[in-house]
Amino acid sequence: MLVVMEEGAPEAQIEAVINRLVDMGFTVHRSTGVRHTVLGGVGPLDDFDPATLEVMEGVKECHRIVSAYKLASRHFKPAGTVIRIGKVEIGGQEVIAMAGPCSVESEEQIEACAEIVATAGAKVIRGGAFKPRSSPYSFAGLGEAGLRIMRDAANRHDLLVVSEVMDQVQIPLLVEYADILQVGARNMQNFNLLRELGKVRKPVLLKRGIAATIEELLLSAEYILSGGNYEVMLCERGIRTFETSTRNTMDLAAIPVLRRLTHLPVIADPSHGTGKRDYVLPMSRAAVAAGADGLLVEVHPDPDRALSDGAQTLGPQQFTELMKQVRAIAGAIGRAA
Ligand code: PEP
Ligand code: MN
Repeated sequence: MLVVMEEGAPEAQIEAVINRLVDMGFTVHRSTGVRHTVLGGVGPLDDFDPATLEVMEGVKECHRIVSAYKLASRHFKPAGTVIRIGKVEIGGQEVIAMAGPCSVESEEQIEACAEIVATAGAKVIRGGAFKPRSSPYSFAGLGEAGLRIMRDAANRHDLLVVSEVMDQVQIPLLVEYADILQVGARNMQNFNLLRELGKVRKPVLLKRGIAATIEELLLSAEYILSGGNYEVMLCERGIRTFETSTRNTMDLAAIPVLRRLTHLPVIADPSHGTGKRDYVLPMSRAAVAAGADGLLVEVHPDPDRALSDGAQTLGPQQFTELMKQVRAIAGAIGRAA
């Protein structure tokens, strides 16, 4: 159930509607837009007649939402969500670059990386301290030591930190060291993890599962939102198809589809999306042209020696060139980067 309040409806009228919804068994989530307050009621009464609420004072309109996700729906926040972290706005005018290695390997590597990505114009450094690897024998990350290395380098270079949380037990550590908690493709439907992230008050970057539909991605976001954490961004990172020329098939169309269906910011990851460094620049340009609010790109001072995902990782010059070209594309569509 979505209730749109009249422009400037007084607090007393809003509260009366909230109380009515609560009495009817709904859990109410409130969204304060530029003009209207929207109340999202999540509850059991699907056969409820919206006219009952429409006659209340201060109510502009009331809709029964039939899509399976409600809080993630564009209707809930038509103007779109802008996630503000310090000076950085994700989902605003500027396309935000998040860049860094696949894995945190050492202090020297992260310091060099922070210098490269900050100078090129990225606002966030990425890097996994807990790595989901297909083989149990592969490098699995430095854990807390890796997070500390990221935090220190980010502070020196005025960057934010995004890093992956693989399990509920790691949440406190990620909350301590990172600014954005990444949920990896393999965990997109780890519902216990998603529920716990609903209780956290830090932004979450939720990656699309390798075989997940767009609706499944939105339903996973709904788990986090329904817990009360409204700061979720979605990430298209390629899906598994019959095509073998690229590591994954980057579903570029998912970007405009998501922008239509949801108010949540959309990030594109052309590194995992293609698996090959030569394709990262063209797909970054394309993703920004298609409406992505941000890019997640793997960058390493010496990509050929990276401990994970070297083939899809850019070197310093390649990333600097990427930022230059992305800035031009962003400018052409009335945005900045
Ligand atoms: C990553 O970003 O390093 C990562 C493991 O991505 P994904 O979960 O999309 O495979
Ligand atoms: Mn990677």
